[in-house]
Amino acid sequence: MIKSDVSLKQFNTFGIDVAAHFFAEAQNEDQVRSIIESKEFLSNSNLILGGGSNILFTKDFDGIVLRNAINGIEVVKETNDYVLVKAGGGVVWHEFVLYCINQGWYGVENLSLIPGSVGASPMQNIGAYGVEIKEVFHELEAINLKTGEIDYFDNSDCEFGYRESVFKNKHKGEYLISRVTYKLKKKADFKISYGAIEKQLEAMGIQELSVKSVSDAVIAIRQSKLPDPKEIGNSGSFFKNPIVTKSLFDKVKSEYPDLVAYPSGENEMKLAAGWLIDQAGWKGKTIGNYGVHKNQALVLVNYGGATGKQIYDLSEEILISIKEKFGVQLEREVNIY
Ligand SMILES: Cc1cc2nc3c(=O)[nH]c(=O)nc-3n(C[C@H](O)[C@H](O)[C@H](O)COP(=O)(O)OP(=O)(O)OC[C@H]3O[C@@H](n4cnc5c(N)ncnc54)[C@H](O)[C@@H]3O)c2cc1C
Repeated sequence: MIKSDVSLKQFNTFGIDVAAHFFAEAQNEDQVRSIIESKEFLSNSNLILGGGSNILFTKDFDGIVLRNAINGIEVVKETNDYVLVKAGGGVVWHEFVLYCINQGWYGVENLSLIPGSVGASPMQNIGAYGVEIKEVFHELEAINLKTGEIDYFDNSDCEFGYRESVFKNKHKGEYLISRVTYKLKKKADFKISYGAIEKQLEAMGIQELSVKSVSDAVIAIRQSKLPDPKEIGNSGSFFKNPIVTKSLFDKVKSEYPDLVAYPSGENEMKLAAGWLIDQAGWKGKTIGNYGVHKNQALVLVNYGGATGKQIYDLSEEILISIKEKFGVQLEREVNIY
């Protein structure tokens, strides 16, 4: 069950060719427990892996990679208004979205086509087009990697924030998220004012909204804007949109009147990191076989054969240049190993 020296190239969407010293896949909770009790697990560092779409490997992983392959989707409660659906952490996120859409349930359509697994969806509170997972999240089951016991986390336990949760902070590295329960609406409640969704629906000639048409619009926008990892290695947005004080925002805005920003709580503004990176001249920059995507300054790309270290070093250069030009500190969204 536990293999040695396994290439991770096909397990990360950047397509970085590194190896894991040990590698194991778990289809259910019992298999997770037997892996975490093994000597390979107990005497090495570990990494829980989902779809590898939010990871940059900068070197071989000198420990054990445990890939979550727990499957299954089941309805645990249904009322006239909502349904609670539990999905295995290894279910592909977009397949879960399509399942909900086929059932006519509302809540995850704006999150269509985000790569990765159900188990990773609460990690960074995935979000797109004005919706975050926390809005449909009900509860999760997580296996404590030390004891093998299942702990339950409700919405407030997860301390969701912008691309944040307890699993990236105080509980980092402690759990494998084995199953997630979402609360979906049975009555229409669309969020289409964000981004280009309305325009796209119009272009598609949609007269009457449905959960399927909103999902189709989101898919079309994403396909036109983001590089497909099957064609060009990438991890989506490499950096978070920085949240800055109103006074720093005012300062940057006075120098750069076109600055793209949105209010974010009291006295803070969220700046569009892509705009800052573009203004600093990075968009489309190519260094050999890697660089910054030509249409999306937030996306770093591996055209094939780049190392994770090269991409990491490029991200470091971008961080420094944004700090120098705008006085704004960018933060990486992608997990570095
Ligand atoms: C083209 C593209 C577009 C993207 N667009 C978006 C977007 O719109 N919005 C967005 O939020 N994200 C986006 N992402 C990022 C990515 O899809 C999400 O972060 C996704 O949730 C990662 O899932 P994964 O299973 O691939 O996680 P992985 O990359 O495998 O893991 C990410 C982190 O979570 C941990 N982890 C994974 N699974 C578990 C588990 N079961 N238990 C405990 N820890 C775990 C890993 O150790 C790692 O630290 C995009 C990525 C790509 C490539």
